[in-house]
Amino acid sequence: MRFESFSFAPEILRAISECGYQKMTPVQQEAIPAIRRGQDVLASAQTGTGKTAAFALPILQKMFDNPTETQRSNTRALILTPTRELASQIADNINDYSKYMEVSVLTIYGGVKLETQAQKLKRGADIIVATPGRLLEHLQACNLNLSNVDFMVLDEADRMLDMGFISDIQKIMQAVNKNRQNLLFSATFSSAVKKLANDMLVKPKLISVDSQNSTADTVSQVVYPVEQRRKRELLSELIGKKNWQQVLVFTATRDAADKLVKELNLDGITSAVVHGEKAQGNRRRALREFKEGKVRALVATEVAARGLDIQDLEYVVNYDLPFLAEDYVHRIGRTGRAGKSGVAISLVSREEERTLADIEKLIGKQLRRITVPGYEVGSRELLIKQIQKRRSFAKKQQREDNTGAQMIAEKNLGSRRVKVKNSSNKAPTKVKKIR
Ligand code: AMP
Repeated sequence: MRFESFSFAPEILRAISECGYQKMTPVQQEAIPAIRRGQDVLASAQTGTGKTAAFALPILQKMFDNPTETQRSNTRALILTPTRELASQIADNINDYSKYMEVSVLTIYGGVKLETQAQKLKRGADIIVATPGRLLEHLQACNLNLSNVDFMVLDEADRMLDMGFISDIQKIMQAVNKNRQNLLFSATFSSAVKKLANDMLVKPKLISVDSQNSTADTVSQVVYPVEQRRKRELLSELIGKKNWQQVLVFTATRDAADKLVKELNLDGITSAVVHGEKAQGNRRRALREFKEGKVRALVATEVAARGLDIQDLEYVVNYDLPFLAEDYVHRIGRTGRAGKSGVAISLVSREEERTLADIEKLIGKQLRRITVPGYEVGSRELLIKQIQKRRSFAKKQQREDNTGAQMIAEKNLGSRRVKVKNSSNKAPTKVKKIR
């Protein structure tokens, strides 16, 4: 279905067309009419499905239909999202969609001076896109008034709850106009998300565009078995040989991310890093350079990369598998977006085989394995067999040594002898003379 069939204002249609969108994605087809009718929405939609436009476009249309003057107390839409990157990205999208409208969008997140944001809040904004913690700080400092909010969106609700934002969200909800329309988007539905949805939504329209915890069909997934210590070598080889130009690489820790970036750069693969300890400016620069193609590999930790939208990103590498199987789905959702194809590569050490099994169980399929010649990892069973073989060989040798030593001793000492037990496998049996 095309956007024209939903009678959007020409200003919005023009902007959508400039974004290159033609047909609606499934979540858009379902959410847009429901939101325009004024219904609350509970949507199970993973990243990459076009969910930002699914809530932003009907909100913009409704604001277009009922214009009001922007004043300090006139924020009309509040969008809460787990990370700063995601907040910036949503704001960028909304700015694109509303470029032919008179709408102001403000992002509020931590890591930036509170005072600077407070000044901007005083000037007012139609739409605020925020992370919960920082928004609450401003609310408590009375820097903004949410009593005129008509639309409240919780984006990636599962991530926000995982990150411990539930009490901040509840406090924020207390401050928001009670007669608002609520939209909740989440990739997964834990009992905590269900409870939040129950507390927040009134007779919501339920939308599920993909089965829970599924991975997009447009992403092909492969596993490269490799020893942990040889992962970097294999990664550099794959990037180089296969000529991957834009690769998002996930590591388990910040230290691992820093180390990997240094090594990739030494290997001649231009790389940058985003993780929680990096200053906001550095993170933005790294992301911009990656998007512009100035760096080839962006190495990221879980949280820093949450929700990153990089147009046409083809390759996502799990340098380390995530601790939680669910995060695998989130990670590889960075590629294969909006129907485009992508490849998710996991470098899996023997120690990670168990996590891999959990992931395969969660997504309901076995991942294809590719063994690169020279990087083979012996299977666990094979390794156990090898160890057993080595042990029985050592025992046999020890027995032979013992017998040999005994015969020599017997020859030397005649019949009067006492054997002293030998504990090592190499040293010959000691023999004590009895006089
Ligand atoms: P999201 O799930 O909101 O993060 O969107 C994922 C990507 O899909 C973004 O790059 C959007 O710009 C893009 N997108 C959203 N809707 C459409 C559409 N109808 N057609 C093509 N691309 C879209």
